[in-house]
Amino acid sequence: MRKIFIVLYIIGVAAYGQSSLPTDYFSDPLNIPIILSGSFGELRSNHFHSGLDIKTQQREGQPIFAPADGFVKRIKVAHYGYGKALYIQHPNGYTTVYAHLQRYAHDIKDYVKNAQYEKETYEIELFPEAGLLEVKKGEIIGYTGNSGSSGGPHLHYEIRDAASRPMNPMLFGVEIPDTKKPLVTSVFVYPVGEQAHVDQSQNPQKLRLMLQKDGSYKAEKISALGKLGIGVSTNDQQNGASNKNGVYEIKTTYNGEEKFKVLFEKFSFGETRYLNRYIDFDYFKTNKSRVQKLFREANNPLSIIKSEVDNGYITVEDGFTSNFTIEIRDFKNNKVIISIPIEGADKEILDPKESKETDNYIYANEATSITKGKFNIYIPANSLYEDTYLDIQVEGDTLKFHKDVIPIHKNITITVDADNYTASDLDKLYIGELNYRGEPYYNRTYRKGTKLSAKTRSFGTYALVADTTAPTIKPHNFINGKWVSKLDNLQIKIEDDLSGISSYRATINGKFIVTEYNYKKDVLTYNFEDEIISETENNLKLIVTDNVGNSTTFEATFFRKQL
Ligand SMILES: [Zn+2]
Repeated sequence: MRKIFIVLYIIGVAAYGQSSLPTDYFSDPLNIPIILSGSFGELRSNHFHSGLDIKTQQREGQPIFAPADGFVKRIKVAHYGYGKALYIQHPNGYTTVYAHLQRYAHDIKDYVKNAQYEKETYEIELFPEAGLLEVKKGEIIGYTGNSGSSGGPHLHYEIRDAASRPMNPMLFGVEIPDTKKPLVTSVFVYPVGEQAHVDQSQNPQKLRLMLQKDGSYKAEKISALGKLGIGVSTNDQQNGASNKNGVYEIKTTYNGEEKFKVLFEKFSFGETRYLNRYIDFDYFKTNKSRVQKLFREANNPLSIIKSEVDNGYITVEDGFTSNFTIEIRDFKNNKVIISIPIEGADKEILDPKESKETDNYIYANEATSITKGKFNIYIPANSLYEDTYLDIQVEGDTLKFHKDVIPIHKNITITVDADNYTASDLDKLYIGELNYRGEPYYNRTYRKGTKLSAKTRSFGTYALVADTTAPTIKPHNFINGKWVSKLDNLQIKIEDDLSGISSYRATINGKFIVTEYNYKKDVLTYNFEDEIISETENNLKLIVTDNVGNSTTFEATFFRKQL
């Protein structure tokens, strides 16, 4: 049996090498119409979306059916991210992934529960041996939910190749009716060369688009000169939903010749953060709209760029008229075309590029250490995509570390010497990132003597913050000292003011119980089906600790009829 599996596996990999993907191998994982709230390659915060987000009719608990035979190769249960996730290895070499589950199906559920009780933890990652948890095509493997960092009930579904690269599941025959054309939000022209300009400006220009009778767009003629790049903000909708999802392909031409093409078919997790290099990051942070730059700048290794001439840039010459087009299509080949007429003209520049010079010029390919006041900032080589002036100001316990309009690729370390605090105050301090309201967001803070340090991948305001308040714990669905025979579970509300909850441990009558933490609702849940209890009178004890070590112990008694 094992031999057959290996042979099939090799055939599967070989078949992929010839780029012939099996379109009838995987059946749909749900038996409801497939309507997407997210598509493959869609632009998200710091990453390209690695799968399909399938809507589950606004509720949890839809059964998930194995789309093909295989075995469970990985299970991960986490408070954040994918929540309850399941990975199934198929004999054709592909792995399917299911995230944000409400619960796992029978055997898998028991396997996870046993491991959680053995390790006395809710969060767990397991790699069952091949053959231990086999699944047959059509078998229920779990139920959809909203666990982890999910903003509403849905199934996140991925298909990964043998090298763990996520692929567009539509390529494997997932059928989604789509007769709507991609939508165009905006088009920008970026002057790139030293002498380049667009409509007498050296700064990016948003173009005025005119909808044509045939559904295409024509931009108002621009006058320009020199080396330019073009960017577009676009999204796609499928039938049956108004969600704005990602498109499948964007192609550009200049005077009829292909310049640049991006295709959302496959990428690797190692490159996904380069999304921040690919989009106009400053514009996104300021306007919440993602403009895709249809040219490849330095330090952009993205493999979704399938072809390029001169890295997608064009050079406009004085006295020549030319035409640039952008063709955007979705997976069902619905297309929209934008044409941009350009007149080459060396005009006077009325809006020059602003340079914001500061004391801190950072060479992107070199490591830099900067000390200001009680703060030190260490910027490893290649944390930034290009050489940049950074604005850094320190006022007492606050560090104003530029503005969050430049992307950071690798962690920057912020260290602060808090030697003016007493030892006991020092214990309660952490480095917080302040949001626009001035509220501090916890950054994992490391201590060494009087020095505190934290890593970050975003510019912004950081401050030393003290958290002296311990977490609060309250019964949520029961009353201390009362009967709970009718309940399926016990729910306890746990909250912490500043640094946030770091860990918790619950026992009943001294025995560890698995409790699921829902950070979105601040609720811990114990399920009575775990069958830890054999007595009528029970003592629940819960200890919750925050990120600086303040902890609270809660005890309650409840009564439950035993069968
Ligand atoms: Zn998703």
